[in-house]
Amino acid sequence: MELYVKPINRMQFTILAENSETIENIKHKIYEHLNLPIDEQKLIYKNKLLENTMRVGDYNLIQESTLYLIPILIGGNGGNCSFGHSFEFNALNQEEKKEGLPSKKAPRWRRYSAGINFEGKCMNTLCEAYQHRVLVKEKFGTFIIHLKIKELPCPLCKINIVDADNVMFNYCKWKIYGATADSGKIIKYQDSSNDFYKWVSFNGNSKTIWQFLKIEVTKI
Ligand SMILES: [Zn+2]
Repeated sequence: MELYVKPINRMQFTILAENSETIENIKHKIYEHLNLPIDEQKLIYKNKLLENTMRVGDYNLIQESTLYLIPILIGGNGGNCSFGHSFEFNALNQEEKKEGLPSKKAPRWRRYSAGINFEGKCMNTLCEAYQHRVLVKEKFGTFIIHLKIKELPCPLCKINIVDADNVMFNYCKWKIYGATADSGKIIKYQDSSNDFYKWVSFNGNSKTIWQFLKIEVTKI
């Protein structure tokens, strides 16, 4: 069958595919077209991220289905600038907010403050928080997320965390402004967390690929 591949900011092109072929194989064909390494490609079909080991038939792709191609910059060291700054972060859907009460037993790396708190993993083997999801207190300000997620020091060892992909808010007002990478849909809303003894977060497993995302956090 013929599949369309639509890279962000670029002309769509056609590739030939079989039902039994793996997604990794499809990515190899894309590599031949664009010279974009396989591990820097994310493919999306109907808002789903396609896994390398799955097969074309597993996703019910049909003749002339369109796959959206999101190039991910590995290590943030430049790459091809015409592709922009696509990156993965929580979908931040208003509907998926959850409120939580602080746990008295929470370890030191789960402590938070008023304002915005970023969530990611500490990968420093010497740190007490190694491989744990830690919270980085960033309080108030305007945060350009694709830049911010590279500079979030672990609260214990101060080495930058990795895979920062979610935020939680406590006793603050926030405004979200962003565009998703697959459809370019603009996400824009504001809200607040009015209770100091509770926090508001987004369901951690709800990821999306963003073209741009800005969060503005102010005091109540
Ligand atoms: Zn650490």
